[in-house]
Amino acid sequence: MDFQPYIPGMRPVEPGPLARFTPPLEEGVISTWLPSHAPAGSWVLDPFGFSPRLALEAARAGYRVLVTVNNPITQFQLEMSAHSPSETDFKAALADLAASKKGEERLGAHLQSLYLTPCEKCGNEIYADSFLWRKGEVAPYARIYTCPHCEDSGEREANPLDIERAKKIAATDTLHRSRAFERVAALEDEDRVYAEEAIEHYLPRPLYFLTTVINRIDSLNLTPERRRAVNALILVACDAGNTLWDHPTQRRRPKQLNIPNQFREHNLWNQLEHGLSRWTETSSGVVMEPWPNHPPESGGICLYEGRLKDFAEEVKKDIPFKAVIGSLPRPNQAFWTLSALWAGWLWGREAVEPYKPALRRRRYDWAWNATALNAAFTHLFDMLHLGTPFFALLSEPEPSSLASALTAASMAGLDLISLALRTQHDPIQLSWTSGEHLKRQSDPGDIKEVTEAIHTHLMERGEPASYLHVHAAGLIALARSHALKQKNQEFDEALRGTQTLIQTALEGDSRFVHYSGGESVDTGLWGVNPDSNNLLASDSAQNPRYDSLYDQVEIAVVTFLQKHPNSIFIEIEQDLYPRLPGLLTPSQAMIYAVLTSYANKENGTWKLRPEDLAAARRDELNHIARLVETIGSRIGYTTRKQHKNYLWEQNGERKRTFYILASALIGRALAETPSPPEQTVIVIPGGRAALAAYKIQRDPSLAVHLKTVQVVKYRLLRTLVELPVLTRETFEEQVAGDPLEKSKSQMMLF
Ligand SMILES: [Zn+2]
Repeated sequence: MDFQPYIPGMRPVEPGPLARFTPPLEEGVISTWLPSHAPAGSWVLDPFGFSPRLALEAARAGYRVLVTVNNPITQFQLEMSAHSPSETDFKAALADLAASKKGEERLGAHLQSLYLTPCEKCGNEIYADSFLWRKGEVAPYARIYTCPHCEDSGEREANPLDIERAKKIAATDTLHRSRAFERVAALEDEDRVYAEEAIEHYLPRPLYFLTTVINRIDSLNLTPERRRAVNALILVACDAGNTLWDHPTQRRRPKQLNIPNQFREHNLWNQLEHGLSRWTETSSGVVMEPWPNHPPESGGICLYEGRLKDFAEEVKKDIPFKAVIGSLPRPNQAFWTLSALWAGWLWGREAVEPYKPALRRRRYDWAWNATALNAAFTHLFDMLHLGTPFFALLSEPEPSSLASALTAASMAGLDLISLALRTQHDPIQLSWTSGEHLKRQSDPGDIKEVTEAIHTHLMERGEPASYLHVHAAGLIALARSHALKQKNQEFDEALRGTQTLIQTALEGDSRFVHYSGGESVDTGLWGVNPDSNNLLASDSAQNPRYDSLYDQVEIAVVTFLQKHPNSIFIEIEQDLYPRLPGLLTPSQAMIYAVLTSYANKENGTWKLRPEDLAAARRDELNHIARLVETIGSRIGYTTRKQHKNYLWEQNGERKRTFYILASALIGRALAETPSPPEQTVIVIPGGRAALAAYKIQRDPSLAVHLKTVQVVKYRLLRTLVELPVLTRETFEEQVAGDPLEKSKSQMMLF
């Protein structure tokens, strides 16, 4: 397979509303991919509508993007992100809401008063930013505020008044809860129980707040734009108001409706006020038309509100889609259930109706996911002409989600063209084309094929890999031979079979070694047993030896910066990724490790340090070589140069071998050193020590080799040569006492 390079993008500065539930994608990826696969102005289909940003970016790049979206909340999000109401409308809508009366009080003042708390330092009544709760308790245990009077700020223990206020609101809770429920489902509704459970994820205060606001806006007589604006603000409050905000923050992206042991209750009035900028800052001014209207040829969005299945039946092959793009949906019980709830709150029961199945389903597993994806891919296939390219992003990837996507696609007649994987924290970039469905024969998986695919990947990589990587290598081999699923199998059976096959391939071959703290096959790292490949023997001509991935990254990044000083990070990625495509895509942390070792960052651009320019390093290498010779002669050895090594000899017998590096290419040094490890000394610049330590942390096999090989810094040799008295004992002591580990500070790990 011809792996395509990973397309780098930029992380958005403002992630936008509901960011916990939308796929974490980089910007600039789809607008890079599209022009080389479809002419500008052509029709592009996003069959999942899972990421509003993706469709908007494609539209801005000059494509007519048809998006099918079934989730009413995602539809609204897409509409808002394409074209949000003006700041004036937002402000006016919020002002109207605040000014309306609640008894004698203004509603804004009333709602804000729900969050009053006495400042611990000055005693003034102020508004809390949030309250902190423990699961199951009836009152908060702490509050977070910044006092505008005395500037006292931070987390403070709950005051008795906080507890009293929380209990007072809880006393009227039953009424508000049943109101909140009735907007979603009727009393005799079979889905009642699910709606009730979803509402359980709201504490009494936010529930009171939200139902009060929602009931009030119906009577406000807002213009449609202002109604849209206020709905958008309420949606932000709906998300901020549930109990899925753990404290301190760990689970940033909830998938299940589970109440954390400690969680944060936000001040929802603040959320309404802050919601404005979150919407206006991410709005993109893209033309959006409801199906069947067409957007302009210069680019825009056509929204089909409904399921892909219905759309496919309606259009068949009528629209000549030139490409398909999409962020692959992954099961999210929390978001899907909350979406049904919020849609009911904002637009009433009728809006929930088409989306109700999301309320009913309790468990979404990967077999379910594969079945649903396969159905979608099959409808897609029917709409596409042969050879239509499909670029998909699989965010928050894990072995099961990747297996599910590849199996579903393969069985729907999509041929896998490329798979680029950076780390488990980045979306996987997948390319398919619609193939010749009917001719396909599915074959049973061949374990030998899987084993060889994994072995080849690990050899090319030259360093151990995560389970996600080796698993992907196995999946690609199976996808290529159409062996991910037999025709008569169910998806769960097929997925289990694939998993077993890959695990057996790894565990059943002595060439593979598992570096792991635990027993489980998917933890730790998988590498190739060095003994099985003579990886370190320089004379093994028949075994191709690869530089490790991190050494290749170091060479490429430094070479690039020599030729292109003052480059920004993404330019470095754009040069690097095509050299290391597909599964070899290096992590950004690895690139940063090289950059911080060699270069300075000024005004956002990277430039090699003066001492790391090639000429300066060459001079220094020669100088260090002379030091090796001088020190050797002082303790009675003659020095002989052999290839890149400096050998200390006595009476023709080799005592020590020095390999002097200007880089941190330790793997290469090990491979090019003829002596037994205990005689070998690798000399590196002090500025390279942190990078070397980073590599050792990444690569347990390298760490094992370096238990016997000495790595010392230039500085040590400079010190030794200054000593008035130098003996062999002093030399040995000093060499043993110059550990790299001291330099391990502040390195990123993956
Ligand atoms: Zn104060």
